[in-house]
Amino acid sequence: MDAEKEELLDIKSCNLEEVTEYLVSMGEAKFRGKQIYEWMHQKRVCRWDEMTNLSAALRRKLEDTARLTVLTPVEVLISEIDGTRKYLFALQDGNVIESVFMRYKHGNSVCISSQVGCRMGCRFCASTLDGLGTELAPSEMLEQIYAIERHVGERISNVVVMGSGEPMDNYENLLKFIELLTDDNGIHISQRNLTVSTCGIVPKINELAEKKLQMTLAISLHASSDEKRKELMPVANAYSIEQLIEACRNYFQKTGRRITFEYSLVQGVNDTMEDAQRLSNLLLGLNCHVNLIPVNPIKERTYQQSTTRSITEFKNRLEKNRINVTIRREMGRDINGACGQLRKSYIEHKEGL
Ligand code: SAH
Repeated sequence: MDAEKEELLDIKSCNLEEVTEYLVSMGEAKFRGKQIYEWMHQKRVCRWDEMTNLSAALRRKLEDTARLTVLTPVEVLISEIDGTRKYLFALQDGNVIESVFMRYKHGNSVCISSQVGCRMGCRFCASTLDGLGTELAPSEMLEQIYAIERHVGERISNVVVMGSGEPMDNYENLLKFIELLTDDNGIHISQRNLTVSTCGIVPKINELAEKKLQMTLAISLHASSDEKRKELMPVANAYSIEQLIEACRNYFQKTGRRITFEYSLVQGVNDTMEDAQRLSNLLLGLNCHVNLIPVNPIKERTYQQSTTRSITEFKNRLEKNRINVTIRREMGRDINGACGQLRKSYIEHKEGL
């Protein structure tokens, strides 16, 4: 039965053209494709029988051949401070993923995962502790947003691909996800309201630049020298900071979009004045913004958050050097936990660890 289900077409990962082709191949009229696409991505229904302008016979036929990917939360934590919500969703294969809902003045934002776990091995990150890095399908990325919208009952206006996983390690599915997310026949979130965060897979950044998308690219930099970056992020063994910054310059040149750099401050590791100065030198003349994130300690590692004082001094130094910088505001402090920790504690609990 399960094997049979695997064979079903993941129709929510198909674009309008593909859905239409599929319907035509079933002997249906072309306009059925658009109807079904709109039910999935505009009205965002969860069941075939909600698609009321299709005949019962067609709905049955679709049910037998195609899968309507729907996520339902297995756990939701809601912050009493600011309404931030952390979601844990179970996938069909039994894996679980995490997503976050945040309310800002400028609208509601959802942070989604792009993979189950991650293969990148960043030392401070909980998502990568078990390795994995199983791809999520475009439908599974979209459903995190749709499911949260259904649960909260409010519109989502911003999406950040900053949850578990490395989006550039799931590149084709990421591109398809962006196509469906921004399609005006679907949920129609503007490219400008989308941010994709990467640990810096240089060839993929260059490939993405060629697409000339209007989304924001965020780079997890976290260090200003190769030596320190290698200590924190194994990906730095594959690409030097110089190559990474060059790719960012190219990205800006091709897209005109300002780059965001994420820099998680770890006490005694990357938070000195020397680090701040080297970072400023590195970014000089590049149209960018630095987001300082006090590192979120995970119990599996000994990294500590920088002191408030060194965070402020770090920020002041960047400002003095005319680098755009903000300190990331912490959301949902009471349900906090670093990326991937909710998922990890859920799995450990289930396995009785
Ligand atoms: N793989 C992508 C996106 C997921 S991680 C990337 O590397 O950008 C999202 C951001 O959270 C990254 O900047 C990551 O380095 C950071 N991050 C992960 N664990 C963290 C922690 N414990 N404390 C602070 N930032 C963390």
